Amino acid sequence: MIRLPDVPLPGDALASLADYQRDVDAQPDYTARVARAKDRFAALNKKGNRTFDSVKATLSMMNSGARRCAYCEDSAADEVEHIRPKTLYPELVFAWTNYLYACGPCNGPKNNHFAVFAEGTGVLTSVARARNAPVVPPISGKAVFIDPRVEDPTEYLSLDLTDTFWFTPRAKLGPVEHARADYTIRVLQLNIRDWLPQARRSAYLDYLAHLKGYVRDKAEGLPRAHLDRLAEDIRARQHPTVWFEMKRQHASMPELTLLFAKAPEALTW
Ligand SMILES: [Zn+2]
Repeated sequence: MIRLPDVPLPGDALASLADYQRDVDAQPDYTARVARAKDRFAALNKKGNRTFDSVKATLSMMNSGARRCAYCEDSAADEVEHIRPKTLYPELVFAWTNYLYACGPCNGPKNNHFAVFAEGTGVLTSVARARNAPVVPPISGKAVFIDPRVEDPTEYLSLDLTDTFWFTPRAKLGPVEHARADYTIRVLQLNIRDWLPQARRSAYLDYLAHLKGYVRDKAEGLPRAHLDRLAEDIRARQHPTVWFEMKRQHASMPELTLLFAKAPEALTW
């Protein structure tokens, strides 16, 4: 997961979302707002709705490669995901900043999972609502889940490039940051869906092959336009976190140290 670039939503779509939100907010109480949020989102988030067509087109510009999911970076994104679940936070059901484009296999398990560091005590508390539990607002507190719209997940997470291709909390994080990284990895099932570490390993080998090709063609003196095209290929691939980690960890990996020494410009891609 990387921080998503900020792409502005066109003004008419923003105004339309604000209208939809006012209707939800105008409901008489929290329970009614939750029900209204669910119904209205299901009714409006459809192909042919101009606002949501615009939302999806804009969100897809934030995703890597061929519209890869903002969470797993692997499957094609095809669902508008609420970072803060709409069943808990109906006041954000039509909030542009609460959206990202994700794939079904990520959106499914995340579902209405959310946790906060409870105000006052700081205790990490799940606020997901159990089936048949009373519909009451979640307790307040700072979010545990890392929000890639406004935060840089790579400050919290590290990827093992030498063996498992699992995400882990970065070394030397404070307890709060460590808990946030751990929670985000678990909720999104970034390691236990075993095809994801495999896909990251394949992406690593692809990036490596591309970088080797670039270094070889550069040494042979091929034209700048050709080299620029190879660089662009690397920038447009899926699993951008793998590439980010190759740059971050290159000094401790002899093969990467050598390649980046021959093409230091690649550290800026
Ligand atoms: Zn995904």
